[in-house]
Amino acid sequence: MNTFTNAMEQLQAAAKAGSITTADTAFLQAPKRVIEVSFPAKTDDGTTKYYKGYRVQYNDARGPTKGGIRFHPHADLAEVQALAFWMTIKNAVVDVPYGGGKGGVIVNPKEHSRSELERISREFIKAVHEFIGPTKDIPAPDVYTDKHVMAWMLDEYEAIKGLHQPGMVTGKPLALGGSQGRDYATAMGGAFVLKEAVSLLDINPLKATVAIQGFGNAGMHMARILDGWGYRVVAVSDSRTGVYDPKGLDVKKAIAHKKKERTLEGYGAKIVTNKELLALDVDILVPAALENQVRKSNAGDVKAQLIVELANGPVTPEADALLEKNGVTVIPDVLANAGGVAVSYYEWVQNNQGYYWEEEEVMEKLEKKMVKSFKEIHALVKELDSTYREAAFILALRRLIEAARLRGAL
Ligand code: NAD
Repeated sequence: MNTFTNAMEQLQAAAKAGSITTADTAFLQAPKRVIEVSFPAKTDDGTTKYYKGYRVQYNDARGPTKGGIRFHPHADLAEVQALAFWMTIKNAVVDVPYGGGKGGVIVNPKEHSRSELERISREFIKAVHEFIGPTKDIPAPDVYTDKHVMAWMLDEYEAIKGLHQPGMVTGKPLALGGSQGRDYATAMGGAFVLKEAVSLLDINPLKATVAIQGFGNAGMHMARILDGWGYRVVAVSDSRTGVYDPKGLDVKKAIAHKKKERTLEGYGAKIVTNKELLALDVDILVPAALENQVRKSNAGDVKAQLIVELANGPVTPEADALLEKNGVTVIPDVLANAGGVAVSYYEWVQNNQGYYWEEEEVMEKLEKKMVKSFKEIHALVKELDSTYREAAFILALRRLIEAARLRGAL
């Protein structure tokens, strides 16, 4: 399955729903710049291995490109291009002054020690440093990269430049200029829009059941937040296994177990596969792992009324059409997981001004931004009788086209 083809299908469907011409979206049909690198890094026994990495700068009409870097054995250019495109849309949806970018390194982090991952992170920055920077292209964490990886990348970049430039990367540790609240911002932003969607649907939050696929940064914090709000989180999963208890999981215990054992196995609830988790009889499904999880083949099995896409691209276009037909509301990734980049923007603003905010201030700003974006999109859904995904894309396209036109690029 080519993720980039799926992304372009979404673009076309939205442009059609919003009566936007093909000429006006031509500048979004291919990335502005693709950087492909091959770089060496030493293993702990002194052997040199070569790794392939990508950085895609999809579009910068609205500002410097911005988006995460993922470490994954199956990272590929089509996937990184799709993710960079979605970042372009997402940054316009939540109206932060960025274009869209994304990076990927083909590596399985589970097969490397911490010191090897540090060398891979530093060498990747050596290979791409000319193309990134706080006013050019600003990376952040994504799948299997975290604040420690960001710290190594920042340190390497600053060593090369001979300057302190904390705004070259977001999702950093607090001690290096990170923002309060960034570590749970993606999930928090998703929870804010989930709450808005629930209030419009016939779902009682205190009785609602939730299944979450993926138990990393996005999924784990989402489970914690929704559990704290009184929702019944009945299932969670990681790449190996899922656990399910219709009465509700003890989320704190599941988090402690996963952190200690690095797996959900042995938590002490019914084991389900990732496929089974997606088809559970729940009110809300939160995919928070990888792309292409709900496809044509299993979309018909989804029993949830509401899907909140914390992961990027978890629902394919074919599945989207089936879900719509079955009356399932999908809150799309470009809105649902935009809390991460919104707080990344706040982090960058704080870095640029050298003045740091309290957590409360960050969260207040985040909630306002997410609720405003949800309401703008909901108004378009009503006006155009479109899906939330189409409406989010239309909102973004209008903003992107205006910026491109003002620059003379259209
Ligand atoms: P992470 O590395 O912290 O966690 C990923 C989780 O997915 C892990 O629990 C892993 O075990 C699980 N997983 C991996 N392969 C799986 C599979 N085949 N089936 C089921 N589970 C699997 O990553 P993350 O940062 O939580 O990112 C998850 C998703 O959220 C990605 O799509 C990412 O692009 C998106 N996202 C993350 C952020 C962020 O700020 N972290 C922001 C926006 C979007």
